Order: sequence, then C-alpha cells, then structure tokens
Amino acid sequence: YRQFHQIGVEAIGSDRPTVDAEVIDLLWALMVEEFRIPDLQLRLNSIGDAACRPTIRDRLSCYMADRSSELCPDCRGRLIRNPLRIMDCKQAGCQHLVAQAPKPLESLCEACAAHFAEVRGLLDLLKIPYIIDERLVRGLEYYTKTAFEIINPRLGAQNALAGGGRYDGLIESMGGPATPAMGFAIGLERVIASLPPIQEEAALRGVYVATIGQEAQRAGMGLLQELRRRGIRGLMDLEARSLKGQMRQANKERVRYCLIVGDDELRRGQAMLRDMVKADQAAVALDRIVECLMGLEGV
Ligand SMILES: [Zn+2]
Ligand SMILES: [Zn+2]
Repeated sequence: YRQFHQIGVEAIGSDRPTVDAEVIDLLWALMVEEFRIPDLQLRLNSIGDAACRPTIRDRLSCYMADRSSELCPDCRGRLIRNPLRIMDCKQAGCQHLVAQAPKPLESLCEACAAHFAEVRGLLDLLKIPYIIDERLVRGLEYYTKTAFEIINPRLGAQNALAGGGRYDGLIESMGGPATPAMGFAIGLERVIASLPPIQEEAALRGVYVATIGQEAQRAGMGLLQELRRRGIRGLMDLEARSLKGQMRQANKERVRYCLIVGDDELRRGQAMLRDMVKADQAAVALDRIVECLMGLEGV
C-alpha cells in the first residue's frame, strides 16, 4: 500500500487533435518551465478506437499466440484477457517478442491515423519534443487514440511522472451520452522526487560598516543611516566587536562590500571599501562614499 496524490486535468467534450495538443502543452509547460525538471521525455502513442482496436488486438494476439511458450506467466494470462498489456511487460523475454510484434500504429483506421498525424504536427509546431513509444498502451477499453507519458529517466523503474490521453469511451461506458474527453494525471510524489535543488544561495548584497574605535563607530552610524535611507542594505556592529569579529559577521551576513572606518582614516576623511567578491580594497573619501556606493554592482 502506498499513499499518493495526483493533480489532474480533464478536457471534456471535443475529439479534436487541437485539444490533445493543448492539454499536452499545458502539462509540458508545467513540468519543464514551472517545475524546471531536467531531461524529461514525452512518450507518445495512439492506441486506436472502437473501429480499429479489434484489428490491433487480433493481430497482436495472433502473433503472440504462436509464441506463447516464450511469454512470461503473466503475459500468458494477458494473452486471453487483455493482449495489449503484453506491450508494456517489463520481462526481457516478452520485450524481445514485443519488439517484433505488430504495433498499434500499423493498424490504426484512417480516422485514428489522421488524428495522430495532426497531434504530432501540432506538437512539432509547439516545439514540444516527443518520442513515439509503441509499447505505451492502456489496459481499459474506454481509452482511445492519443496515449502519452512524461518520463524522468533519472528515476529508475518507477519513472513516469505523469500520464494521460484520450478516453472518448468512458462517459458512454458509464451510461452517459457519447462524449469525447482528454486529460492527464500527475503523480505528485514522483514530481517532488524529481524537483531540482533549490537554487544556490542568493548573491552577496549590501554593505557592512566595520568600525575601529568609538569615534569611528559614531561616524559609522551616520553612514549606515544614510545608506539605509537610500534603500541600500546596510549592517554594522552595534556591540564593540574586534575588526576580525566584525569581518566574520560581514561574511555571515553575505554582504557584497565592507566599509572599514578607523579613527585614523576618519581624521583623513577616508574609509577603506572592500569588495568581498573581488577581494580587493581601495580608500574612498568619506564625503563621496554614498555616491560612490550607489554606482557599484551588488549594492
Ligand atoms: Zn510478460
Ligand atoms: Zn481507429
């Protein structure tokens, strides 16, 4: 037993390939642009409809019936109940047979083939890359035409993050009026397992005013106030830490610049401005310091 959560989209009422393309585009944009999951694959197939599914199924079961001794025990059962499901069996022996078996796409009726061609053309137009995967099938009768999955190849065996397609037969099979529909479901837990790490720490920003001596600390407070009033992120030591302690604090606060004011510099009307990224420093005139900082990157 495994608890899981899904987000789904259902577009009910149209059998047009434009709907298939729009629904896939919505999912692809969500996964690639919003969630920013790398290396995803869109796998695409068509599994036909009530008109051509019997042919698809018959051709596959004839082929497999002649070779049933090579099938795994599960697939021998599927051969009777649901031969299409042999297509996605993971057993090596069955996969070997499936590789040579008649594929659903070869037996599509004219309407299904045209629908699939149009879906593919629209995905090309929308620049959504896809891989035709003829092993992508559905076990239930009400699924029709387009079937697709989004795969994260990095996840191992359980790598489908989302799956969907048409189910033009569902509403009718539940006793409703014949109503085409198209949708998908996203498996949230697998999406969360695929999310890229939160982007690296924010860039260094702002100014730390480090002071040496009481006079310098008073002057520093004045500077700090002016910086903050100009919208600059400004910090300083309000205790009486050593210069080393202040520099440590500046590093911890991830500031871009340190303005070092000592009593001696103060008398000369200067301060040292240290760029924490470039690790260089220069003397700057105190009466020009704010103006100078305003022009710098990372302030
Ligand atoms: Zn099998
Ligand atoms: Zn068909």
